[in-house]
Amino acid sequence: MNRQVDAKAEPIIRLEGVEKWFGKFQVLSAIDLRVAAGERIVVCGPSGSGKSTLIRCINGLEAVNKGRILVDGIDLTGGRRSIDKVRAEVGMVFQQFNLFPHLTILQNCTLAPMRTRGVSREEAEATAMKFLTRVRIPDQAHKYPSQLSGGQQQRVAIARALCMTPRVMLFDEPTSALDPEMVKEVLDTMISLAEEGMTMLCVTHEMGFARSVADRVIFMADGRIVEEAPPQQFFTRPQHEKTRNFLGQIL
Ligand code: ADP
Ligand code: MG
Repeated sequence: MNRQVDAKAEPIIRLEGVEKWFGKFQVLSAIDLRVAAGERIVVCGPSGSGKSTLIRCINGLEAVNKGRILVDGIDLTGGRRSIDKVRAEVGMVFQQFNLFPHLTILQNCTLAPMRTRGVSREEAEATAMKFLTRVRIPDQAHKYPSQLSGGQQQRVAIARALCMTPRVMLFDEPTSALDPEMVKEVLDTMISLAEEGMTMLCVTHEMGFARSVADRVIFMADGRIVEEAPPQQFFTRPQHEKTRNFLGQIL
């Protein structure tokens, strides 16, 4: 996909000198990252390299120890109210779907808009049906998560996030808990989101997706961004030994 991204505009996500520790263990070091509105970033790297932590920091699920993170100009280190504001702009999709098991698909999608936005039930349900239609499962609205396949549940999770009209979507290995035959339906949903211009930061090892959708691929190792490049360059001319080793293992 070739599009123009305005690189000079204020980035929608900006990380500056971010460091994160779990006790004495440094999980993120010197992370600088700018994501422009409309940009699609794929983050990859070995297990334990800090990818999930990075994503969780951008959503305010983890606090950083040093540096700062701004989302749409809002500084996440600015306390509770800033975190709530950022969360309202950022949709998150996890590996394990994280749907509420005791709520129907429709209720999963309407809960947050009704609770946190004061949207009426009628409006929330109309919005939910719109997005459930977009992920091609409107007919499942009155079922419970356990009655759906993994691929369907993950598409619900995407629809649920979209119901909050996020400006940015964060994905943390959204297909790695799925049976192989369900990976494509979730990737197709992500591709259609990308085509509509959504800003996306995706942790994934689906390199076909990275090749066709990403504007930039970021490779992390040991809590650092080791390398970042457009996919064409990343896959054909990786610069670092660690990147080459990683690609050698997964491709
Ligand atoms: P990745 O997503 O790349 O596999 P993570 O961000 O999940 O990596 O984890 C990076 C490192 O931080 C790992 O060594 C992991 O064990 C550690 N870690 C992650 N979360 C916590 C936590 N809540 N407490 C302590 N250590 C953690
Ligand atoms: Mg992870």
